[in-house]
Amino acid sequence: MKQLAVLGSTGSIGVNTLQIVEAFPDKFQVLALTAGGNTGLLLEQIHRFQPQVVAVVAESDADQLRSVLGAGGPEVFYGVEGLVRCASHPQVSTVVAAIVGAAGLVPTMAAIKAGKDIALANKETLVMAGSLVMDAVREHQVKLLPVDSEHSAIFQSLEGHQTQDIRRLILTASGGPFRDWPLDRMSGILPADALAHPNWNMGRKISIDSATMMNKGLEVIEAHWLFNLPVDRIAVHVHPESIVHSMVEYCDGAVLAQLGIPDMQTPIAYALSWPDRLPLNLDPLDLCKTGSLTFSEPDSAKFPCLALAYSAAKVAGSAPAVLNAANEVAVEEFLSGRLSFLQIPRLIEQVLEGHDIEELMTIDQVLRADLYGRHAARELIAGGLI
Ligand code: NAD
Ligand code: MG
Repeated sequence: MKQLAVLGSTGSIGVNTLQIVEAFPDKFQVLALTAGGNTGLLLEQIHRFQPQVVAVVAESDADQLRSVLGAGGPEVFYGVEGLVRCASHPQVSTVVAAIVGAAGLVPTMAAIKAGKDIALANKETLVMAGSLVMDAVREHQVKLLPVDSEHSAIFQSLEGHQTQDIRRLILTASGGPFRDWPLDRMSGILPADALAHPNWNMGRKISIDSATMMNKGLEVIEAHWLFNLPVDRIAVHVHPESIVHSMVEYCDGAVLAQLGIPDMQTPIAYALSWPDRLPLNLDPLDLCKTGSLTFSEPDSAKFPCLALAYSAAKVAGSAPAVLNAANEVAVEEFLSGRLSFLQIPRLIEQVLEGHDIEELMTIDQVLRADLYGRHAARELIAGGLI
């Protein structure tokens, strides 16, 4: 029986995770749940899964939960400290890191330091602080298993193989909703257009990241840290059908891939149960019905975020954390109608251009780089400099 803390339980990954828990009650028990807001759904989850501890971001939400739950309910905490308590609860064995964005870094790091195995969805943690996170994973001898479908595919395609035999990793990308749009039409993109992902049903931030292809850029950096390969040996192929979830090319020319219908339950379940597989009740992949599988190069003129991520990864140090922070601000501002779609990469590029790269030796330095990126992005927007 694995004792889980699900961080970000009310999100797309969190909800999928809890569906798996519900389907396998003899394998998983929920000890801790955390959410950013959405206390209504959190309350339902608390009634259903009976966790011992819960955390939310705002103190007022914590007060409200306590008064509704009364005596006999779980302990309710709030703020970053509350998230850290849930992530490092002594009885938890595995933490599902499914908070979105930079907010996931501190609780995930706390979980690693407390010796918890991590099922990692929160890619921003590795983008911001990959070197420190991977050092901590080694030091505390925990397992860091990818939930991201591409990284799960690579992880599965690497099993039983030797790192020195890898030639390159090939991440697949759906190309998002604007893959076939001409560039001149893209200036008019509205948030609703960008939120409508063709193949995956995800949270708002990752949906916008998929539309700009920054998601793939973040995933290149994530793969760099998870699999310890330089980013110039990590390629991206656009594959609109989202059936081949990613591939590993070996030195003898063999290419191994993992295929499946696009459903996050498969990679989440594998991260939770590895090396076992869980019998999930999903539609089988029927390649005869799927038809053609197609692949192409990403369009760098339409999706400059991908190149920005590659270049931040090469510069290294604080650059990826600043890239991530500027992107988070850009996505928020786009969603609230204050920034156009094509201004997203311009804002990130300008923030990176104005940043003096520093080496990141501590999480506090990472958090400072994150704050810098956010502040610089907001200043550029406020000053009308984009
Ligand atoms: P989501 O927006 O649906 O859910 C995010 C969760 O984090 C929610 O529970 C929310 O309440 C919580 N949260 C938000 N801000 C918070 C804060 N400041 N402090 C604490 N909690 C906060 O996001 P999602 O789509 O589930 O994505 C979660 C992570 O998983 C992201 O890093 C994303 O890149 C990654 N991921 C998601 C998918 C997917 O299919 N959704 C696939 C691969 C990777
Ligand atoms: Mg992915």
